[in-house]
Amino acid sequence: ETAALLAKRQQNFAASQKHYYGHPPQFERGWKEHMFSVEGRAYLDMVNNVTILGHGHPRLSAAIGRQWSMLNTNSRFHYAAVAEFSERLASLAPDGLDTVFLVNSGSEAVDLALRLAWAHTGHRNILSLLEAYHGWTVASDAVSTSIADNPNALETRPGWVRPVLSPNTYRGRFRGEDTTADYVAAVAQKLAEIEAVGEGLAGFIAESVYGNAGGIVLPKGYLSEVYARVRDRGGLCIADEVQIGYGRLGHHFWGFEHQGVIPDIITVAKGMGNGHPLGAVITRRDIADSLEREGYFFSSSGGSPVSSAVGMTVLDVMADEQLQENARTVGDHLKYRLEGLIDQFPIVGAVHGMGLYLGLEFVRNRQTLEPATQETTAICNRLLDLGVIMQPTGDHLNVLKIKPPLCLSIESADFFVDMLEKVLLEGW
Ligand code: PMP
Repeated sequence: ETAALLAKRQQNFAASQKHYYGHPPQFERGWKEHMFSVEGRAYLDMVNNVTILGHGHPRLSAAIGRQWSMLNTNSRFHYAAVAEFSERLASLAPDGLDTVFLVNSGSEAVDLALRLAWAHTGHRNILSLLEAYHGWTVASDAVSTSIADNPNALETRPGWVRPVLSPNTYRGRFRGEDTTADYVAAVAQKLAEIEAVGEGLAGFIAESVYGNAGGIVLPKGYLSEVYARVRDRGGLCIADEVQIGYGRLGHHFWGFEHQGVIPDIITVAKGMGNGHPLGAVITRRDIADSLEREGYFFSSSGGSPVSSAVGMTVLDVMADEQLQENARTVGDHLKYRLEGLIDQFPIVGAVHGMGLYLGLEFVRNRQTLEPATQETTAICNRLLDLGVIMQPTGDHLNVLKIKPPLCLSIESADFFVDMLEKVLLEGW
């Protein structure tokens, strides 16, 4: 039956609509950090960057049911849930960032952030890091330069997208921690190029811990140097927190806090709805108001009563269950154990990231850093046999994408490392 349903899906979907694994299990339900197949087999979900509370949370089901049975409607009406949720969301952002737009996804949030930067500055050029992924809608796709998702990304992007060198401390052009000045110089050069042709700058967009490069922690002080230069040229700084924000890093609620900067615009989605479509842009009032010159903003179901109830409940559960703290303690333990694999197995090049936002990079050679791409896929497939859901990420698809629900237990973290160790000992 699973095979027949898979064939049905393939019949009605396009080839570009990929799913994980060649022969995936058919999942039926989930509980905390596990998903269960129709055969009743438990799989540890180590990759789910959306379901931050864990699967099947009863408080979320109750909140959705309650609000749905009371009212769900077009978001242009006045109802309590959206006022309460937007106030709560704004209270989590740095002072001054008190204006909120609610949308349904990360891509929509990034598109809106770009529109705000264009409207506010009157300019078009956006700096975006190489290796980035920011979404699939027309503008968010344009600033996505990752060749893993689109091999033609660099050829097909429009002229207003200005890619800058990826500050990848592991495999970037400049290696090591002490490379801030080199990577900042690359940004300065790009700014000079734009100035030389007499054009202005709308902004700079980046993840503050570089997820799509494999969870790379940016060189120390990089963002504050870059933000200063971008602002000097009149541009706005956009922090894409879709993947890293909302407590996943454990040590901070927002990723940009790790670099000690305050952005002008924040984009957020994924975890904030725990799988229910919900995203947001948080910004200053003067920036938000500039959109009025271009028309108005409207999203039929962005911040609907049900979405707002979901958003509120996710924050309540996170606080009550101390999930950010759990991300820190379990994340630290997991990172420590994963780092232990570096000495044991030559293929393990490095462990990136922090909290429950880690990347384990496989290389064929530690000097040349030749990516172990096929090996990574084989390791993920073998992990699935052993009951662990894991996927490759990064431009070379050679990094394990470790982004489990934030409720991950120490026992589950240990199970994952034990299974990984077993696969690495077996070979692939
Ligand atoms: N920005 C980042 C950093 C992301 O990782 C993603 C999704 N992977 C997006 C934006 C787009 O979000 P969505 O898939 O919800 O449109």
